[in-house]
Amino acid sequence: MIESPLLAELGGYIAGEWVDADTGDTFDVINPADGDCLARVPGMGEGQVARAVEAAHDAYGRSVSAEERCRWLSEIAAALAAHTTELARIITLEHGKPLREGAAEVEYSAGFFSFFAENLHRLEAEVLAGRPHGLQWKVHHRPAGVAALITPWNFPLAMLAKKLAAALAAGCGIVTKPASQTPLTCIALYGLMHRIGVPAGRVNLVLGKAGPIGKVFCTHPAVRLISFTGSTDVGKVLASQAAPHLKRMALELGGNAPFIVFDDAPIETAVDALIANKFRAGGQTCVCTNRVYVHERIAEPFAAAVVDRTRRLEVGDGMLPGTDIGPLIDRNGFDKVAEHVSDAMRRGAVRLAGDDPPRPACDWGAFYPPTVLVGVTPEMLVCREETFGPVVAIAAFAGEAEAIEQANATPYGLAAYLFTRDPVRAERLVRRLRFGHVGLNTGSGPTPEAPFGGMKASGYGREGGIEGLLEFCETQVVAGS
Ligand code: NAP
Repeated sequence: MIESPLLAELGGYIAGEWVDADTGDTFDVINPADGDCLARVPGMGEGQVARAVEAAHDAYGRSVSAEERCRWLSEIAAALAAHTTELARIITLEHGKPLREGAAEVEYSAGFFSFFAENLHRLEAEVLAGRPHGLQWKVHHRPAGVAALITPWNFPLAMLAKKLAAALAAGCGIVTKPASQTPLTCIALYGLMHRIGVPAGRVNLVLGKAGPIGKVFCTHPAVRLISFTGSTDVGKVLASQAAPHLKRMALELGGNAPFIVFDDAPIETAVDALIANKFRAGGQTCVCTNRVYVHERIAEPFAAAVVDRTRRLEVGDGMLPGTDIGPLIDRNGFDKVAEHVSDAMRRGAVRLAGDDPPRPACDWGAFYPPTVLVGVTPEMLVCREETFGPVVAIAAFAGEAEAIEQANATPYGLAAYLFTRDPVRAERLVRRLRFGHVGLNTGSGPTPEAPFGGMKASGYGREGGIEGLLEFCETQVVAGS
């Protein structure tokens, strides 16, 4: 069991009170590295979820000054910074990622609260230039209402911070449902908000079975906006459930990121970027490279350098110093990665690093060795689907047209990476890449200051930047004399 000063309470949070499930139902949170039961938390039912929505609606009805919202955001950022070490420990225990990645996630998350605190003035009403029809036209950004936030397990803090910071800044009432595999970091964040004095009802937390909770979010008349990060399949379910009720949706969904390296790119820079990008969180991020396309003239030395770096990575418990890659989240994740690798090898890919690990006997301990495949082709699962694991899948290309065609040959459109020293080529290709985020000579992912989100089956809506703040607002125009 986990012991943490940030987890004195282990419940849901409704109208400023910590709550157990009305039914007494609970579920266990397991450490994916060693199977330890970290905590038993309430599994709440539809009635309680509706109460959380109503508490959020009441709070939303009480308008709060921008100064007060700015105070909450700044104090949350400061609290995250002050508790980085403990929050990183909780993240690592429930997710499995190396401790230093947990710490980086806390810092990244704090950045969203700081960014929106510093940019609240961007919500001030604007008077349009000129006087169309002889009237004054004033544009307001009103809070959207109750925002329901649903987050995945792969960044237990950051995926929530992006939404929560913007929703608080906008003045929404909020109900959060974190992933059932990683609710503890979210509970810790709610504990910090409780201590800071974010008023009762403004932020609520529900835990439990996803289907019934999602149904309340999609159908309750008080919920105006659903902000979801997770798989494309679940995003589609939510969109269809919410459509008859005309809820606004922001959907941050799956990816299948290409990483394109031209023969004029410095190989070492590209390899460094690939290793950092690909193996973060054990390959379980939406912006992780899924497919690598390398110009045929440099394909061999590039693969050799990737293999050399990959073989040096340490796999183990994220709590241990020196670990580079922790366990996959569970056995389903392991099975998917193993299936992608065996499918690729059956279809002719060659494995240059990695081997066949034993299938875990239970739902934890899913350690998968970092793997490099060359000779991958478009029909392989590693190209068609998000692998979500530590597998580098490399294909060679002959020219620009082929590279861009392969990169775009996916229903997804979240992140892409392009390495070339030729700025004219870069400009030409970036325009044609159908991805919401493009790293040009970098494997860097999103930052709080910039809008991030997908095209095509990777969803719609943006997080971060001013666009991410406006997702939680509704525009109201007042025309008057
Ligand atoms: P998931 O299975 O879609 O789950 C995400 C969240 O949705 C969890 O909280 C889950 O709850 C909940 N959920 C599941 N079914 C639901 C339903 N019927 N109604 C309402 N909520 C439901 O995704 P995941 O496996 O956690 O996350 C991995 C996926 O997220 C990958 O595809 C990754 O690319 C994507 N992702 C995208 C971004 C982005 O910014 N675009 C960022 C991170 C991750 P339970 O845990 O209780 O099942």
